[in-house]
This record gives sequence, C-alpha cells and structure tokens, in this order.
Amino acid sequence: MKIVFLGTGDSTGTPVINCHCRTCDDARTKNWERKRFSILIKHRGKNVLVDTSPDLRRQLLDLKIERIDAVLWTHAHFDHFGGIAEFYRVQDDVEVFSAPEVHESVEIFGNFIPYKKREVSENENFKIADIEFELLRVHHPPVDAFGVLIRFEDVKIAISGDTNSEIPEKTVKEFEDSELFIVNALAPTGKFKKHMNALDALRISKRLRVKNLKISHASHLYPPKDEAKKIYPLAEDYEEICLDSMLEGQI
Ligand SMILES: [Zn+2]
Ligand SMILES: [Zn+2]
Ligand SMILES: [Zn+2]
Repeated sequence: MKIVFLGTGDSTGTPVINCHCRTCDDARTKNWERKRFSILIKHRGKNVLVDTSPDLRRQLLDLKIERIDAVLWTHAHFDHFGGIAEFYRVQDDVEVFSAPEVHESVEIFGNFIPYKKREVSENENFKIADIEFELLRVHHPPVDAFGVLIRFEDVKIAISGDTNSEIPEKTVKEFEDSELFIVNALAPTGKFKKHMNALDALRISKRLRVKNLKISHASHLYPPKDEAKKIYPLAEDYEEICLDSMLEGQI
C-alpha cells in the first residue's frame, strides 16, 4: 500500500493569489506549491481518494493517475470536495463514501453533480480494495467533520481531517498507537477556531503514541518550505509513503 499526498495546502493553497509574504514569494521564485488537500491510497492497482481537492485535475494529470476507484469525504468544505464537480465529467461511476450529514451539505452546493452516493455512519467499518476504513468524528465547527482510520494487516493509519485540537475522546482512543498520523495543522502557532496549529499537532501525536507523524493542510503562515521542514514534520505535495518501507523504519 502506498499513501500519496496529492495536496498539502489549506483552502487558498500556497502561494496565495496576490500575497507577497516571504513564503508565497519563495514558492513563486523556487517553483513549489501546496495544492489543496487530498490523499491518494494506492493498493493492488486500486486508487482510493480521501477528499477531492479543487486541484484534482492537475494532481491526477501530474501523477498519471487514470482511474479513481472510490472517494471518501471528510467534510463538506469546498477545499475538500470541490474537485468532484469537474471530475464526474471524466468518470461518472465513482462511488463517494461519507456520512449522511456530509452528503446532505454537498448536495446543497452541488445538486447537479451526479456522483454515486454511499452513506456510511461514523464508527461504521467498511471495506474498499481490501482495506478497512472508518470515519471518526472530529471537531471543526460549525460543520460535521470526520477523521479517517485505515486498518490494514494489523497496521493503523490515522488521518485527522480538518479539526481543532478538541478531538473527541472516543476518536482519540481509536487513533492511539497508529503507525502513521496525518494531521491537519494550519500554522506553526496561533489560535484558530476550526484548526489546530503545529504545536497542538505535536502534543496530540505524542499523546496518541503514533510512530510517524506528517503535518498537512499547511498555510502560508509556515516559513518557506525548506526552512519549515527542518522544524516541523511537514508533508510535501506528491510525497509518497510506502507502507512496507515505513514498517521497516525508513521514513
Ligand atoms: Zn480544509
Ligand atoms: Zn503569503
Ligand atoms: Zn474544513
């Protein structure tokens, strides 16, 4: 199994249009970018997406991904589902798994999108491509939002989804002892209503006793990429993690 970070940015992406902060100008000068959030899980020829970034077209073309077998949505914010609005014209048979509340909210925005809706409840285990998935409630007010727990051959991988640091205790328990924790942390420090910062993420991952940590959904409030990655375990766009290598301690 491989986990590929398609986009590691926040809702505006980096560089931000019309922003000339040090990070955005560094991104322009050195030609790097943080696209909107999405994760690809590749396994036995199948491609499963966690969230459909508005940058999906570019991401799939760049990585030569020609078919998506299933999608999971963590919540109904545009930077997490928007890509489906054009992708359904390329492939109209993709099944999208999410909680009923999330489907309901997406339908308000996109009742023209003929995607194949699959409702799954929080804490319900379901299988796609021989991998077990579970949606777990997180805290991203005011919307219903879910993290994702992946179980594969005794290994747990936790994806926080968009959340602030007040993750419900039940979810915390399930995330404990994960081999990999992909956590969304908007900025190095600072207080945000909907999001956590990198210090929160480090503290929570310590509490969860996770073995490997990757921070995603990073905004331009981090220092330029090369500086920031010396300080924080930030994921990069198109970075791949191979499960076998991770278990051998090679990430
Ligand atoms: Zn987001
Ligand atoms: Zn900026
Ligand atoms: Zn969000």
